[in-house]
Amino acid sequence: MTKTVGVMLPLPFNDVFDYFAPDEVKKGDVVLVNFGGQMQIGVVFKLGASANLENTKIKPVSKVFPFRLKESLIDFIKWVAKYNMAPVGLVLKMVLSAKGAFDDEKANVLYRLSGKTLAEAKLKNSDARWRVIDLLKHAPYSKSEMMQGAGVGLGVIKTLIENGILEQMNVQKETPDETPFIENSEICLTDEQQKAADMLIAGIQCGFNVTLLDGVTGSGKTEVYLKTALEVLHQNKQVLILVPEIALTTQWLERFEKRFGFKPYQWHSALNQTERAKTWKAVAQNKAKVLVGARSALFLPFENLALIVVDESHDQTFKQEDMVNYQARDMAVVRAKIENIPIVLSTATPDLETVVNVEEGKYQTAVLKNRYANALMPEIKVIDLKKDKPQRGDWGTSWLSKALCDALKENLDKGEQSMLFLNRRGYAPLMICRDCGARLQCPNCTAWLTEHRSQRKLICHHCGYTTTTPDICPDCGSATGLTACGPGVERIAEEVKFRFPLAKVEVLSSDTTSSFKAISDVIGRMERKEIDILIGTQILAKGHHFPMLTLVGVVDADLGLMGSDLRAKEQTFQLLSQVSGRAGRAEKKGTVYVQTLYPENSVLKALLKNDREEFVKAEKKERQMLCLPPYGKLASLILSSQNEDLLEKSAHHLAKILPLQSGVFLLGPAPAPIYMLRGKYRYRLLLKTLKTINIQTVIKNWLKNANLPSSVRLEVDVDPYSFM
Ligand code: ADP
Ligand code: ZN
Ligand code: ZN
Repeated sequence: MTKTVGVMLPLPFNDVFDYFAPDEVKKGDVVLVNFGGQMQIGVVFKLGASANLENTKIKPVSKVFPFRLKESLIDFIKWVAKYNMAPVGLVLKMVLSAKGAFDDEKANVLYRLSGKTLAEAKLKNSDARWRVIDLLKHAPYSKSEMMQGAGVGLGVIKTLIENGILEQMNVQKETPDETPFIENSEICLTDEQQKAADMLIAGIQCGFNVTLLDGVTGSGKTEVYLKTALEVLHQNKQVLILVPEIALTTQWLERFEKRFGFKPYQWHSALNQTERAKTWKAVAQNKAKVLVGARSALFLPFENLALIVVDESHDQTFKQEDMVNYQARDMAVVRAKIENIPIVLSTATPDLETVVNVEEGKYQTAVLKNRYANALMPEIKVIDLKKDKPQRGDWGTSWLSKALCDALKENLDKGEQSMLFLNRRGYAPLMICRDCGARLQCPNCTAWLTEHRSQRKLICHHCGYTTTTPDICPDCGSATGLTACGPGVERIAEEVKFRFPLAKVEVLSSDTTSSFKAISDVIGRMERKEIDILIGTQILAKGHHFPMLTLVGVVDADLGLMGSDLRAKEQTFQLLSQVSGRAGRAEKKGTVYVQTLYPENSVLKALLKNDREEFVKAEKKERQMLCLPPYGKLASLILSSQNEDLLEKSAHHLAKILPLQSGVFLLGPAPAPIYMLRGKYRYRLLLKTLKTINIQTVIKNWLKNANLPSSVRLEVDVDPYSFM
């Protein structure tokens, strides 16, 4: 016997499609269906017919897989779609992201990016090609996966392969099997830690509740939540630990393993298809007891989830701006609510949204005031670059002040480790010609090209466009005019090597060290004291623990404050606190030197006084006055098109038709700060509403009558973090 069911497909639709299925099929079953001549993996979202189709028009499902999504996961998918104004099908696609889990055949040949660019291959920019390239930036895929994942035809992929942009790779070996867990009894929590753990453990019995685990850097937050996780393991249930992607290095994993006696399952963009499939299945079958992963792990089909932990919960990388825009920390709270389980947000610098939720009594807090083992909080010294101006050396321009150099020297002499932080990759953020004033710009974006000297390349950090650094100015032909402007981490490393030729210096930045393994290697060398001075970008700020690191230098504290971004101050404060938090985590006291041109600014003052409360208070006041999050709601609408004229008209048309309503404000339209991105022009509109207004409903009613031309693309970003 068969019946009609509604199948949701991993495609940009909100509605189900009708199919015939065997009688025993239930809601949540994962099925294979023929959709427009292509085989698609979908999920039964509904029993019974949706459309008024004749029986002859309804196709049977081709296969029923032995996986069933739980009702709670389906509710979660729908909730995420509605809140973020994304098609349900695309959210489902994130859940079904391990195609291999449903494959019984041998894994297909996988392809990866060769490093050759479109320009080098003399291929034109096209949306379809970019979608394939973007997809492969995360992990290797087979041809059919690329067709599905990027929504392109086989022709596009063949062209990329034939022109050497994609290359074949061998399928890698899978991870070893899990081992049973053993509790490591060596760890004994301090009184303060135990109190926090008791509170979290009590929460396990109480269904949904949110706890902010609020503790200074090095206070043992990780130990506290791991202790809580252990309780859940005793009940044979599952724990999900979300971490910022880059924090997922071997250091964290080794620590976990030491504590529990087994490696947790992992989920991040660098997994290959086999690992993905294996992990997905293990999660669905309650074999994976602990899963630690980046934000997308939130969409895994846990069989018996009992606790979610969001580590470094303030981190902005939890916000995804990709196929579906969502804030993983916020969605994690939603998932916990739907699953009726506790969630822990762990951080030393909670975001304002969380702070306000605590104040309103929605979240409880567990506080750790002291660093473990009486380690002291680092001393912070601000260096005014106007007074202590970096002096030119034999090698040219310099970026490090005398005070910082003296401190570095002293630290080297003492045999202790130092770290320099600059949140800018590459050698120099801009190249200009001193003879004609030309600035080297990306041909696809309104952005300068960053010089990566070690690779002899200029790279656009927005679209990935890469070209060889020219010897002569492309505008005037001058052979001596081209000059690098400003520093990136590579340039700081160059200066440090000139100043301290005997020191062991290394750079850690997401492009020079692109794989987890490479990053872990550098971190391992730092742990073993094989590095004297480590220089890096924000990779350095997250979670690492180096006992012999006693000096941290922030090369340019003003960098994050230049933009007019809503969260610029908050994020700079968090970043600088986190970076500072790396110093002096063991017996030896740490010192942090912060270079700035504006020692008076409120972020630095708060940092200096170690006064988070005061900073948060001032920020809150400002946001409250302007009705900005968390006191008001925001959504961005980004229009893009190759047709500049039509784009501008559409943007103004959209602004004009917004229905008038009190408590709803529109800013824009305005050309986006990055006016051209990947060869398309962009306009932005920012919608602001009172907190009491449902911003999604406002947008829905507004866009109903938009009738935008098909060549103009509209993207909605609810709770935006990026305003570029
Ligand atoms: P946080 O996550 O708050 O920054 P961590 O959990 O990383 O702090 O703790 C800092 C360091 O102190 C780590 O090396 C950790 O292993 C150690 N530590 C913290 N609490 C304890 C404890 N109760 N017993 C032993 N070591 C501890
Ligand atoms: Zn020139
Ligand atoms: Zn670009």
